[in-house]
Amino acid sequence: LPRNLYPERENSRGLDLTDENLLERLSKTLQESATRDWRAAPTFAEDAGSETEAVVNPADHRDEVGHVTWATEDGARAAAKRAQAAYPDWSIRPVGERAECLERAADLLDEQMEPLLGLIMREAGKSAANAIAEVREAVDFLRYYAKEARQNMEGAIGVGPMIAISPWNFPLAIFVGEVSAALVAGNTVLAKPAEETPLIAAQAVDILHEAGVPRDVLQLVPGAGPIGAALVGAPENCGVIFTGSTEVAKLIQRQLAKRTQPDGAPIPFIAETGGQNAMVVDSSALPEQVVRDVIASAFDSAGQRCSALRILCLQEEVADEMLEMLRGALAELRVGATDRLSVDVGPVITAEARDNILSHIEAMREKGHRVEQVDLAGETEHGTFVPPTMIEIDDIDQLEREVFGPVLHVMRYERRDLPEVMRQIAATGYGLTFGVHSRIDETVNAVVARAEVGNIYVNRNVIGAIVGVQPFGGSGLSGTGPKAGGPLYLGRLNKGAGYHAPE
Ligand code: GLU
Repeated sequence: LPRNLYPERENSRGLDLTDENLLERLSKTLQESATRDWRAAPTFAEDAGSETEAVVNPADHRDEVGHVTWATEDGARAAAKRAQAAYPDWSIRPVGERAECLERAADLLDEQMEPLLGLIMREAGKSAANAIAEVREAVDFLRYYAKEARQNMEGAIGVGPMIAISPWNFPLAIFVGEVSAALVAGNTVLAKPAEETPLIAAQAVDILHEAGVPRDVLQLVPGAGPIGAALVGAPENCGVIFTGSTEVAKLIQRQLAKRTQPDGAPIPFIAETGGQNAMVVDSSALPEQVVRDVIASAFDSAGQRCSALRILCLQEEVADEMLEMLRGALAELRVGATDRLSVDVGPVITAEARDNILSHIEAMREKGHRVEQVDLAGETEHGTFVPPTMIEIDDIDQLEREVFGPVLHVMRYERRDLPEVMRQIAATGYGLTFGVHSRIDETVNAVVARAEVGNIYVNRNVIGAIVGVQPFGGSGLSGTGPKAGGPLYLGRLNKGAGYHAPE
């Protein structure tokens, strides 16, 4: 698509995966990526000589993608002091200057999209299409927050050093989203990417530095949970932005409850966590469209999105027909390493994640639930794969927890019980995404009115929210809000005075 087809929108360009030349360049990118030793390391001197470890491809553990040097807890504390020292100068810069850094970074990232795709595919086990979406979303976040800041943050003041803790499932997009929002609002940032995917995060930090963000204003602090805890507990910490599990969000909140900002104020906390996301399909829905959207919602990214569909509710009258079609579509899914475009479902991130998902499937099987699975081909033996799985349930209560992988639960409902189904969905406590497939307006309106979630999707899939168009985030066990990629996000990241709420 030409860049400015929709001049009122400013979302990033994509790449056309049917273009033969691009496909050739992509396979070159992958080969070149494999010859490079990608590196991630703390961007401050204190930890230059600390422990280094190999990062491996989840699709093939023999493939070493690169190496990460871990931060130490002392190093993380030293970085927090630096972030404090760098804060006054950064926070009083005109907002336009900070926004310009983001815009330059967006251009650089856009230019470097192709060489980065190979890294994202290998480090996170993403498909080519998902890797492209990842870079696009990162570029979108940079441009969107820059634009929002220019419009609404003239004279606004940042809060201080902020901690950005990001997940492995969107190792570039969410990392860049959290970091860039905090930066443009006038804060300095200590960025701790997920320990599974530090390499692509290091590339993003390099790009932001090259774009003009001073090194002490944005510091990369690679590490696992204890490093996150050291940062959250640092006396300089003035805010935490977190995306990950509900469980870890609660741990952070408990840690924050014991502390204040240096001036005694409570520490702002943004958490975007999991979902137990449902979709309701009634007898008027178009079966082919339902099948396509359900398969994408549940199994794209091997189900490793917090937005992914976990519970499909089928109206009794059409349940047999839909299930039959879904079984057929499930059997067609190809699982494997994502370096080939023919593969639909890639690996899950680690052996621990795989075992956790498999143990849920086994437990459900033992309880007598009907389980349908794709056969794994032999080529999956060197990575961590989970066969896409469909499990029939009678009741949402039969699910104890969110299972973060390619597992879809399916239940039937009687039309008269729809309000009860909606009640059960709300009773999970999560509130992230919800989908409805129906061609009856009253049904759509009725369930939409009852859905207690952040993002509702009607007659489509429930994944892939677009920055600036579909602000993303939930409530309850799914997070604190405000929604990422939406107009209220930056308002949480400054002192308030001088922030003009968008109209
Ligand atoms: N924003 C992503 C989507 O709409 C999900 C983000 C996440 O998994 O954390 O699919």
